[in-house]
Amino acid sequence: MCAYHPESPARYICQGESCFEKRIFCHACLKNNKHMHSVNRNELIEELPQILEGSRQDCDHLLEFIEETFKEIILFKDYLIRAIRKKYHIQIELFNEINIESKCQALDNLIKFKEDSKIIQQVLDQPFKTVLSHIKDGITDVCLEQVTYLGQMTEQERQQFQNHITESQNLFQSNRLEEALEKVERALIINPRDLDALIQKGNILMRLQRLKEAQQQFIQALKIDELHVTSRFALGSYYIRTNQRRQALQQYFKIIDINPGNQQAIIQIDQLLEETY
Ligand SMILES: [Zn+2]
Ligand SMILES: [Zn+2]
Repeated sequence: MCAYHPESPARYICQGESCFEKRIFCHACLKNNKHMHSVNRNELIEELPQILEGSRQDCDHLLEFIEETFKEIILFKDYLIRAIRKKYHIQIELFNEINIESKCQALDNLIKFKEDSKIIQQVLDQPFKTVLSHIKDGITDVCLEQVTYLGQMTEQERQQFQNHITESQNLFQSNRLEEALEKVERALIINPRDLDALIQKGNILMRLQRLKEAQQQFIQALKIDELHVTSRFALGSYYIRTNQRRQALQQYFKIIDINPGNQQAIIQIDQLLEETY
């Protein structure tokens, strides 16, 4: 059906790149000059299977590129490990068999190992951190939490999700914040639109003093459901923590709108007003 006229059948799909209208439309829409911004990018609805097929192929190319890049990294990691092991991991049996020149060289190398090992770690540490942070940015850029057509979780996924969340909460309780963060991130890969998981991640980031990132989590949760009171409270406490009292007040007022008589919100508002004046 047409996205604008539920009573009439869909005839066209707009493929224009800078389109802000709903992309499935009918003949009446066309007559009313909808999607005239890029007429030559309007396709017949019958083309849909080919359009999806084309996109799947593009997606496969990107995934292949990622797989190949990582395979190469892992291949060279194996070479590096083998090289280090050959040079420094010397068994006593081998040592006894080699000639005196080699024995001296082996001992020489072992003495220099501490220095060499420090250098290798330093050289690798920074690029690895950079790559890892780019990968994390990539995951964030996909914005999976905004995708409304994600299917339901399978029973197994639900179980895994719940395990990650529980572990994350326990780690959070015992103040093992980095580990707690990793667990909740795993849960969010399974279900990126789970509000409690987003809030959990935000709360961990708050404790880690990564306040901006924490705020993003709360805002993301509210984009999914702007009536979610827990998210509003979390965003409110972010604003208090960062001394933005006006914005904090706004959040608590919205909570009262959603849920009139919410005691916790009323107490927060009272406190904020007392402190302001
Ligand atoms: Zn229409
Ligand atoms: Zn359009």
